[in-house]
Amino acid sequence: MRIILIGPPGAGKGTQCQRLVDYLRVPHLSTGEMLRAAVRAGTAEGLAAAHFMAQGQLVPDPMILGLVTKRLEAADCRDGCLLDGFPRTLPQAAMLDDLLDCRAMSVDGVIELAVPRDELVHRMLARKREDDNPEIFAKRIASFEVQTAPLLDYYKRQGKLASIDGLGTADEIFNRVREALRRLKRDS
Ligand code: AMP
Repeated sequence: MRIILIGPPGAGKGTQCQRLVDYLRVPHLSTGEMLRAAVRAGTAEGLAAAHFMAQGQLVPDPMILGLVTKRLEAADCRDGCLLDGFPRTLPQAAMLDDLLDCRAMSVDGVIELAVPRDELVHRMLARKREDDNPEIFAKRIASFEVQTAPLLDYYKRQGKLASIDGLGTADEIFNRVREALRRLKRDS
């Protein structure tokens, strides 16, 4: 299955993604992780991306598209993958559709982890990441609300969206994720 997990920063996507990839036995494609790895490795891509990431801004599409295309073309992604952090905007969703269309592939389902904004801020204060200071975090939430949230409607119209409550223990949330997968499989 080709699944996208969407949720605001701090929604717990990382934890659920780890469980999902074990469950689905597909590779985890996290653009945030790819970018952080490039920054750590000090590649030209990493250097170019670091500035945007530190400001809580989106990295320009060509760089993201390059990373995702390379990854989607790898043999281990032929039977499915879990996309995390991509697409993040409507233009990126259209790019993904084109990319998959050309390879006779498609998105099978989109799972939204819904978490209220107050809870996100509370969680952010409890964890540490270098792009997590309160001001930058607020920018990342705003970027989600303005640029990424419209994707939910985009996939809902295609009958591919399953929204789940992102509050609770990791186990409780993962049970909802599995239930959402069953619904998506049944409806596809
Ligand atoms: P994440 O770990 O998904 O929250 O991503 C961390 C940072 O990487 C984001 O705040 C963006 O600066 C950048 N990033 C990750 N994915 C994308 C994307 N699909 N488009 C643009 N920028 C991205």
